[in-house]
Amino acid sequence: MKRVYLIGNPVNHSVSPAMHNAAFRALEMDWQYELLETPRERLREAIAKIRAEDCAGANVTVPHKQAVIELMDEISDNARQIGAVNTIIHRAGKLIGDNTDWIGFNCSLRDHHIHPRNASVVILGAGGAAHAIANALASEGAREIIINNRTGVRAAELADRLRERFPKLKIAVNWVDAVSDANILINATSVGMSPKSAESPMPRQTAFSPGTVVVDLVYNPIETKFLSDAKRAGAQTINGIGMLVRQGAASFKLWTDCEAPIETMREAALQAMKTKRV
Ligand code: NAP
Repeated sequence: MKRVYLIGNPVNHSVSPAMHNAAFRALEMDWQYELLETPRERLREAIAKIRAEDCAGANVTVPHKQAVIELMDEISDNARQIGAVNTIIHRAGKLIGDNTDWIGFNCSLRDHHIHPRNASVVILGAGGAAHAIANALASEGAREIIINNRTGVRAAELADRLRERFPKLKIAVNWVDAVSDANILINATSVGMSPKSAESPMPRQTAFSPGTVVVDLVYNPIETKFLSDAKRAGAQTINGIGMLVRQGAASFKLWTDCEAPIETMREAALQAMKTKRV
């Protein structure tokens, strides 16, 4: 039997085991996805487990996405640029750090027939997920990206990294007035996540426009306050489930070399969320 782990802390809330184990069953593969709750001081120990012969790799989640980078034998260009690893592939004794969040995000937009080329995009947040999606949007030809974040210095850091890689892209930081004019507005903060689902990351004194595509990366609850407010204002909305499933499917392909059964994974994730909701 082959194993894949989820390394993070906490991991109990994760729907990834349900999603991946459903996919392994659907393809009749003798594989198992297991939770590996890992406090910071045990990260090296957890990484050593991935080097076992029966282990094909791992997903990495909060708070280790940055810290694992130095423990890898190789890093993909995308993971290096994003500055975070969410997928580890164990191949021929080597651990390769990669990132599939950006693929998940792009696929999720495409599933809704949204193309960021020439778009003006506002991202709320400047953490790991914001780095991944900003790179994805810039690679897909977004015209401008405006990063609004509570901690200004983190927004500035993300802007600097983007400028280095995409010198022609227009980039602005903490420009709240841009929110209402955006073609695409994305919540990449954790605000609104259960159990604090009454909160919204929408800056005060801003309003949703009916012409904006509003995306939330938070997927628990599936319809956040941010999305329900946007919907009420007439905007098109996209929830975080599509990205969750698509980033998982991309990791699945890297470990197994098989196409992931997307709909099986989506159903399993939705089912697991019903039972795990806090
Ligand atoms: P992270 O690196 O910890 O970043 C968290 C971000 O949220 C930072 O920008 C932080 O701002 C902001 N934030 C947190 N609490 C806030 C508050 N009370 N008010 C204002 N801003 C606040 O986390 P991450 O990995 O980027 O994840 C962000 C969210 O995306 C999470 O909810 C995660 O579940 C979700 N996500 C979803 C998917 C998916 O597949 N759908 C994939 C990845 C992540 P500061 O910099 O000021 O602290």
